[in-house]
Amino acid sequence: MASLIKIDLRLLIILLSLSSMFLTVTYIIYGGYNLERELLLQQALESKRAYAMKQAETLSDLFSNLQQQLAYGAREIEKHISDPNAAQSESTRLLEQNNSFNSVLFANHEGIIQASAPQDAGLDQLRLQSSGTIEALNQRKPIISDPYLGTTGRLIIMVSEPIYSGNLYRGFLGGTIYLRDINSLAKTLGTHFYRDGSYSYVVDDNGKIVYHPDKDRVGEQVNPTLLAEHLNNNDNTPARYMNGEQDLLMGHATVAPVNWHVIVERPTDFVLAELNQLIKKMLATAIPFLFVLLALIGYFATLIATPLHSLATAAEGLENPDSMQKIEGVRSWYFEARQIKHTMLRGLLLLNKKLGHLEKDRLTDPLTGLQNRRGMQLVVNDWLETEQQFAVIMCDIDHFKEINDNFGHNVGDIVLQYLAAHLERASRSTDIVCRIGGEEFLMLLPETPLSLALTIAERLRADLAALNSPTGSPITISAGVASWNRTTTSFEALLESADQALYQAKRNGRNRVETLQSAPPA
Ligand code: GH3
Ligand code: MG
Ligand code: MG
Repeated sequence: MASLIKIDLRLLIILLSLSSMFLTVTYIIYGGYNLERELLLQQALESKRAYAMKQAETLSDLFSNLQQQLAYGAREIEKHISDPNAAQSESTRLLEQNNSFNSVLFANHEGIIQASAPQDAGLDQLRLQSSGTIEALNQRKPIISDPYLGTTGRLIIMVSEPIYSGNLYRGFLGGTIYLRDINSLAKTLGTHFYRDGSYSYVVDDNGKIVYHPDKDRVGEQVNPTLLAEHLNNNDNTPARYMNGEQDLLMGHATVAPVNWHVIVERPTDFVLAELNQLIKKMLATAIPFLFVLLALIGYFATLIATPLHSLATAAEGLENPDSMQKIEGVRSWYFEARQIKHTMLRGLLLLNKKLGHLEKDRLTDPLTGLQNRRGMQLVVNDWLETEQQFAVIMCDIDHFKEINDNFGHNVGDIVLQYLAAHLERASRSTDIVCRIGGEEFLMLLPETPLSLALTIAERLRADLAALNSPTGSPITISAGVASWNRTTTSFEALLESADQALYQAKRNGRNRVETLQSAPPA
């Protein structure tokens, strides 16, 4: 199966760590963002509500104060009801003393103006026809009118106090507030937008704006949804609502004496912009940390994966002669790697031992336990490679056929084993004894000159001839000897020389040692 990316343990650890890191970070940031957003919006709403309550209270205080001022003025006018100058001076005093009204007027029970301030308003002796004044005449009690358009075209509200002498209605004293001019509402509520985007405005019970920091909006009708769903509920719950395209946080409170509503609003974007700033800061501080974490993940993934990776690579080339060393060199610093390493080493040792046995079987003769031809060749190759010179003795049992014939094949085998043991006993530790044919044996004698080889062969022959073999009587051997000398060109030539010598020994009557070479002069 061919794949573009080699998936290995290191990659898997890195992927696992990265995905869990990514998920955790995402979760923390996303969760934190949501939580923080909820909290900020809640706080913003609550602060709008609290501010609206405060403003409504302030406005209520203003109105009861205005009403009290008018009540006092009304009593003063009633005391001097027959003196028109007294009414005029009282009106002027009310206008100038507190700066609360834009104008003050006293109208008699028919609605004809008796006194007014400022005097240049030109209202004297005029019959009042505005809805506010008619309302005051009709009701004959303290009222605060709805906004109405005055005769001068101004948008006005009027606070008025009836004047009675006993039960006799004398008219009313009214103070007006010009909603679009500088007035006491603006002075009380403040006329600005706040830095955080907040602003407050006031609507009457019909939803008409009576005060707004943006003067042009005074007199406008407020968003009907806002009026229906939030203002007229009379619970002061703040809310987030859409005013057209604008997403707003809104708190409101009712101004009890007039049933007006103070509304404090703040665009939601302003609040969320703060939050985005916060998240950006959070990310900026987190990123270097994430890089450090990334490096650590890479480092530890390598640390964990390396032992298993090295073991896996070694397992791939188990047949290589250095695989044992490779495995031993793996730094297995944790349990699983250590176990695998030890198991591999143990397995490899066992395998080598098994292979060694097989190899040995391949190279030895099962009957005698001597090297066979293959074994012989291996030794010779080694010696040739290291330029080791050596001699060979090739022996053959005389008339072996007869032994088989007379005593049976089994005894023949036993005789072969007997001869093998004898050859082994007689050889030096560095000599190699091989069985190279049915009853033919070869001795390899390293660093042995011809003369010494001849002596050894002769001793072998003589010993055997003097010993009783398993047949009950001695066996004899013939032997051909050759040693590496200047004329020797190859091992095959050496062997051939020994073979020829053996043949000669047979021909010359058996039970003898021959060589075709001539021993160098001693
Ligand atoms: P010579 O003196 O000329 O060597 O006479 P020989 O009888 O030994 O002659 P030859 O080499 O022809 O005979 C070898 C015999 O060895 C023939 C064969 O039956 C016998 N032989 C070969 N291998 C084995 C073996 O593994 N076991 C037994 N028992 N006999 C074997
Ligand atoms: Mg033979
Ligand atoms: Mg023979």
